[in-house]
Formats: sequence, C-alpha cells, structure tokens
Amino acid sequence: MLRINELRLPLDHAEGALRDAIVARLGIQPAELGEFTVFKRSYDARKSSTITLSYTIDVELTNEDALLAKFAGDRHVVRTPDTNYRFVGKAPEELAHRPVVVGFGPCGIFAALILAQMGFRPIVLERGKAVRERTKDTWGLWRQSVLNPESNVQFGEGGAGTFSDGKLYSQIKDPKHYGRKVLTEFVKAGAPEEILYVSKPHIGTFRLVGMVENMRADIIALGGEIRFQQRVADVRIEDGHLRGVVLANGEEIRSDHVILALGHSARDTFEMLHERGVYMEAKPFSVGFRVEHPQSLIDKARFGPNAGHPVLGAADYKLVHHAKNGRSVYSFCMCPGGTVVAATSEPNRVVTNGMSQYSRNERNANAGIVVGITPDDYPGGPLAGIAFQRHWESRAYELGGGDYIAPGQLVGDFVKGQPSSVLGSVEPSYKPGVKLGDLSTSLPDYAIAAVREALPAFERQIKGFSMHDAVLTGVETRTSSPLRITRGGDCQSLNVKGLFPAGEGAGYAGGILSAGVDGIRVAEAVAKSILGDVTVV
Ligand code: FAD
Repeated sequence: MLRINELRLPLDHAEGALRDAIVARLGIQPAELGEFTVFKRSYDARKSSTITLSYTIDVELTNEDALLAKFAGDRHVVRTPDTNYRFVGKAPEELAHRPVVVGFGPCGIFAALILAQMGFRPIVLERGKAVRERTKDTWGLWRQSVLNPESNVQFGEGGAGTFSDGKLYSQIKDPKHYGRKVLTEFVKAGAPEEILYVSKPHIGTFRLVGMVENMRADIIALGGEIRFQQRVADVRIEDGHLRGVVLANGEEIRSDHVILALGHSARDTFEMLHERGVYMEAKPFSVGFRVEHPQSLIDKARFGPNAGHPVLGAADYKLVHHAKNGRSVYSFCMCPGGTVVAATSEPNRVVTNGMSQYSRNERNANAGIVVGITPDDYPGGPLAGIAFQRHWESRAYELGGGDYIAPGQLVGDFVKGQPSSVLGSVEPSYKPGVKLGDLSTSLPDYAIAAVREALPAFERQIKGFSMHDAVLTGVETRTSSPLRITRGGDCQSLNVKGLFPAGEGAGYAGGILSAGVDGIRVAEAVAKSILGDVTVV
C-alpha cells in the first residue's frame, strides 16, 4: 500500500475531490485508482478565512513499486508503514503466579488487556468501584458536596480520565505504533471510528463509561480477573524482589510480577511505597487555575467566518507564555464546549479539572492555565510535591468557604489585582459552586505573578482571551504526578525487581493515550520477564 502525506483540500471540498486529488498527485489514470482510506485528517486554521484540510491517504495500487520509484526521495509519497500490533510472546501453560495489575485506569486497562491477550490471565486490583457505581459517587460530590475518598473523579474503574473530555492525542514518540493499538481497541470497545483518522480525536465522558465496561468484559473473557474496592495497602519485598501485595482487608496475593498503574493521586500508596524503600524522586509538575470563556468567542477567534463548521467542531487552543520571572505559563487539558469539574480525592480540599461530552456543545470553553514548577519550589524529598499540592488544595477549600465550593475571580479583576463580587456574562460551570473573591493568595506569589502577566499576553493569540468577565476557578494542582517511581530499561523499579511502575502516577505518561501506550509497554516487559527474555523493552 502507498501512503500520500499532506494532500491539501479546501474545507468545503466536494465529496469526489479527494479521489481527483489523489489521481492528480500520483499522476495516474482515474481507472487505475482502486480503494483508498483516510489515515489522518487535520486542519490548518492559521488563516481563519481560508481553512484547509490536510489528508494522509493510504492507496491500494497494482503498480506500487513503479510509483515508489517515480516518487523516490519525495516524503509525500511513501510505502505505508506496518502499524499492526504484534505480541511479544505467549503465556506458558502453567504459571507459578499470575501477574498483578494495580489500578484500572487507561494504563492498567491496557496492561491487563495485553497480558490477557497473550494468555497471562492477570489479576487486576482497583481501589474504586465499577464505573456505573462510581459515576453515582462522583455526582454525589458535584451535586451534594459529598466526597467518597475511595470512589471519585480520580479513583475507580476507568481511572482519572473517565469523567473527562476524552482527548486521545499525545506528543509522545511512538516508533512501535502502540498508540494505534490503543485507538483500535477503543474502537472495538465502542469508540467512534473517526478516532482512528481525525488528528485530534476525543470521545467525551458518556461513551468512555460504556467502553471501559466492554474492555473489562474482554479481559475477563480472556481469563483475567478484575476486583473492585480492593486497595493495595502494602507490598511484600524479599531480598530486593517483589513477592506479593497486601490488600487493605488484610488479604495477601502472591505474585512475582506487579504492575503499579496507580495514577497521580494515590498519595497514600506513594507514601507506603516510600516507607518500604522503593526508589522514587520528586519531579516537576504544574499548578494554576481553570479559565472559562464563551465557546463562541474561542470559535470566532480560531475559525473566523468558518466558526461552527461541522467538520471543525468546537475550537480548541494551545497557548504558552514565558513570564518575566522565568516561569512558563501554558494552557492545559483544554476542553471545548465542556464543564469545569471538582476533582479532589481527599476531604476538605478543592481541585479543578475539565470534562465534556462527545458533542462538546456546552456554552463555555475551559482550560487549565498553569505554571511549571520544579522540585526547587518544594524541596524535601520525593513526597514534598504531595505536601505542596495538599497545602494549596486546602487553601482553595478555605477560600471557597467549605462544601467543596471553589474560589473564583473574574479575569479582568485578577489582572488588575482587585477582588470580584459579581459575575458578568460568563456563568462558571464548576459544581457544587464558585465563590467569587480574590485568588491572589490561592497559589505561591510567583505563580500568581506569572498567570497575571500571561492572561493579557494570550489576548494576542486569542482575541478576547483576557475579557473582563471570563472566570478563573482554582486550584488546578493535579496536572501530572509530583514524583517518579524510577524504572530501568526493563521497566522494573530501580531497586525492587518484579515491580513495574507505570503510567501517569509513576511519571511515565501524561494523558489517556500515553497512559494506554505505557500500559502496553509494561505488559510486554512483564511478559518478557516471565518468559525469560532479557532484551530491553
Ligand atoms: P489513572 O487513570 O489515574 O488510574 C489509576 C487507577 O489506580 C485509579 O483508578 C485508582 O483508583 C487506582 N489506584 C490507585 N491506588 C490504588 C491502590 N493502592 N490499590 C488499587 N488501586 C489503586 N487525559 C487525556 O488524555 N485527555 C483528556 O481529555 C483528559 N481529561 C481529564 C479530565 C479529568 C477530570 C481528569 C481527572 C483527568 C483527565 N485526563 C485527560 C488525564 C488522564 O485521565 C490521565 O492522564 C490518565 O487517566 C492516567 O492514566 P493512569 O492509568 O496512569 O492513571
């Protein structure tokens, strides 16, 4: 098969125009062109009045070799790479101990699925509840200010990304095309086919719930076992080798291969692992606020006269500003047409994040506006970042006045340094509610100064971004893990063999897709370790 890259057509091109463009690009007769498929479709909106679509197309042709010779050296016409997934091995008939996967977020799901597909019959231990029950608990916080610390936005089947925008793109290097395997499995589990070809796919929260259930069913059908409300409270380590895990109810599960796919909010588990001597180190992350604007403002700024075009959908943005105090401020996890959500997993703390439905048709656009921080900002060892997060999350709770109400401020007032008391044209979407006031003491001074400088600067890229009535809600602290459970080339902990730290919590992923990719990578490492294959993963 041949691949044609960057085939550009106008946004409103006729249906047959793609076929004509392929024929013209390859210089062949129309009758020579058989089947073709769209591998990727993206848009170029740098000029909002003349937005173009850019296609990557795979074409079946009989004279492929001759065409490749004709286009030798042209990166726009190449042989289609093989992106099919291949398993690294097959489980032996008898397994002394089954591999264990701790956590059933995207990383744990893919680790368990790949292990199950290879015949390793993993045991999955997830502290939270199955996704439907978990949804009720999550709504309990949003609607009634009741937090269940074991079943919430961060914990439970599907992991942190279940109540999200379901964005499925990432900038990770992926030479083995694991991302393709993740997307293909998602489609098998009920995701829309388009996630395979649009450049910035997203699923939205409702669909994710059903997909997670289907993937659970797949793993069980392949001999895996998934246990909910089973928190791993301890690990058994003998002579530098992991020998099993202990559950909060006291049950011990023997295993020589344990994948830790904990997510970034498993603070108690990080503390336990640190106490047991598992090597970890503090790492950088980011803190800031959620900002909300009318989605129509973002659509107009990005797409101009093409705002609302069905192929483009609700517009997103990506912004970066380097502040005078040396800090970088950037937009994070932007959710077009979505809502700001309460994302704490600990009592009496406030954390913001964002989510949307597949349709992305809520009135507001929201994004984290966050400032990069490093362990120099929270000295004191691997767990110091957690203490830092807790401090500011508690402060946000206090500023909100309790009941998980979040503190907020209008952008215009925040930039001027004056408190807000009345909402303007933008109604904040965070539930259980927002208390307007002064956010200047809700984060360290350097972060406040950097965001204050960045908001007007973003106006240059998105007209209207620093509009007076846009709303900031705080605080956004769970942008990524504050620590790394460092692993070697074999994906095992540096000092505990048989322990495979993985995904976002271990510091090896950021987002649903990259967590899924890391799950595959670590499942392969476990398989190789069990099969005695010593090649580096
Ligand atoms: P997690 O998804 O956090 O899963 C870890 C799991 O481990 C949890 O289910 C937890 O309950 C379990 N666990 C923890 N400790 C234990 C223990 N001791 N015993 C047993 N189980 C345990 N990313 C995107 O790419 N796109 C988005 O649109 C997006 N939106 C988001 C919106 C929200 C509201 C949030 C909170 C996150 C969003 N993210 C998004 C980030 C994304 O969810 C994470 O990057 C991803 O889920 C990380 O996957 P993971 O499997 O590594 O960890």
